[in-house]
Amino acid sequence: MSEKYRYEEFTWPEIREAVAQNRVCVLPVGTVEQHGPHLPLVTDVLTATEMSRAAVQQIPEEAVLMPSVYYAFNEHHLDFPGTIAVEGNTFINYITDIGKSLAHHGFRKILLVNGHGSNVPFLDIAARNITNHSEAVCAMVPWWSLVPKALLNELRESEFPGGMAHGCELETSVLLHLCGHLVQMDKAEKDMPVQKSEFFYWDLQAPSPVFFQEFFSRYSRTGTSGDPTKATAEKGRRFVEAVVERLIRVIRELRAREIEPRVDHH
Ligand SMILES: [Zn+2]
Repeated sequence: MSEKYRYEEFTWPEIREAVAQNRVCVLPVGTVEQHGPHLPLVTDVLTATEMSRAAVQQIPEEAVLMPSVYYAFNEHHLDFPGTIAVEGNTFINYITDIGKSLAHHGFRKILLVNGHGSNVPFLDIAARNITNHSEAVCAMVPWWSLVPKALLNELRESEFPGGMAHGCELETSVLLHLCGHLVQMDKAEKDMPVQKSEFFYWDLQAPSPVFFQEFFSRYSRTGTSGDPTKATAEKGRRFVEAVVERLIRVIRELRAREIEPRVDHH
């Protein structure tokens, strides 16, 4: 029992035992959408799932890996074939219901591991919904926010801002490492927004001061935003190992975190 970590493989008595162990439920959330001419539609599911799996696998007594959520919010990508878009409120409610079910069974710590930039505001709300309306606490982490700054400084070759946004140097490197057979590097093309701005841009290393997302086809010819030609599998390995190491620490800290009693000051 102790080495089992995939939620869907548990029996119900084993789930009851996992609750008693105060395990953290780790839910990878991606999206199915175009990622330029060189990366597969499943990119954001793969990154979130593989990093989560690698982390939970190393600490199976402390966490449970949930089946991944594939479909999410990405209406701004619909001009490119393949994108499956879920309306924002549907997506929030769906994630909230998963978390509430886990809380109902007794789990008290839930971590959403996010693989898609535009999921951030929706998952933030879903995590708050779960925390506010159940006995559990729920947190959300986009995997790229766990890439150490020093490692980006060392490895990044594309310009900031803009070189690491979508199907970019970062994502393509990670895909090359995780499943290189799905990457068509001969089709990878640098594609940067024509309009330069101090306040309106997209980059995974740091968000722009102004939050703003318009239809992708208005500023990207290829469906890429950034410079995937700078991607390598070796960079991907370094990024993934660093993220997984820190993800384990996030899971452990969330598990150890006390849920303090609320105080009603009426
Ligand atoms: Zn992506």
